[in-house]
Amino acid sequence: MSENKVALVTGASRGIGRQCAIELAKAGLDIIINYAGNEEAANKTLEEIKALGVKAVAKKFNVADKEAVEAAIKEIMDEFGRIDVLVNNAGITRDGLFMRMNETQWLDVINTNLNSAYYVTNPVSKIMIKQRSGSIVNMASISGIYGNMGQANYSTAKAGLIGFTKALAKELASRNIRVNAVAPGFVQTDMTKDLPQEAIIERIPLKRLGEPKDIALAVKFLAVDTDYVTGQVLSVDGGLVI
Ligand code: NAP
Repeated sequence: MSENKVALVTGASRGIGRQCAIELAKAGLDIIINYAGNEEAANKTLEEIKALGVKAVAKKFNVADKEAVEAAIKEIMDEFGRIDVLVNNAGITRDGLFMRMNETQWLDVINTNLNSAYYVTNPVSKIMIKQRSGSIVNMASISGIYGNMGQANYSTAKAGLIGFTKALAKELASRNIRVNAVAPGFVQTDMTKDLPQEAIIERIPLKRLGEPKDIALAVKFLAVDTDYVTGQVLSVDGGLVI
């Protein structure tokens, strides 16, 4: 059982989620690192977080699989006894122009990026309601705000997460649970490594891509540094969408 506050970060083996887990560990939270299959990356993140002196485990489960999520949350509660912070971060892209987008591309992205928020937040919010406190941060994207060509599936999922964030913030405020979203611009991770970086940087007022840490610090702020922000979508995009 944990005496510290506990954070569950989905998709925390790599990229933005990994850095969110590290920043929350630096803030003294015990950490559950969720991942889909990359055990090597998950174990590397796990070691780095343990070295910060908090309790941590890596848990492999597919956030788009309701039964797998429920089983994992039960295990987490048996082991940690509480969940104070949830970062719904796990996500994928399956880009393509809509005319050529097949049903698998559509469903994979909606299931992994949007339906997962239902599967994970449903049991976790019940735990937070019992605790009478909690903080949820959903990883949206500027794609969900301004739409992106070739990303009809992804923009839909991320716009859905923004609506989910606002509705849930209203429902859960009376239980002392805050719900916010972060909308990253282009961040240097495996997800963006094949994009034409120079052309993108041209469009960004601050003239650089984001680093995972840029996003993770915003997540940490919303998750644990503030007590009075809820229902907000914080863009962290170097000024790309102003
Ligand atoms: P990434 O480097 O590709 O990492 C994705 C992470 O999600 C990995 O930890 C992966 O686990 C995990 N994951 C994928 N599918 C999963 C599933 N079904 N169940 C559990 N975990 C799963 O991605 P990223 O760039 O850090 O993106 C993280 C989030 O930020 C995503 O929601 C993404 O949409 C959002 N975002 C990213 C950018 C950007 O520019 N990078 C911009 C806006 C928003 P494994 O390692 O096991 O595969």
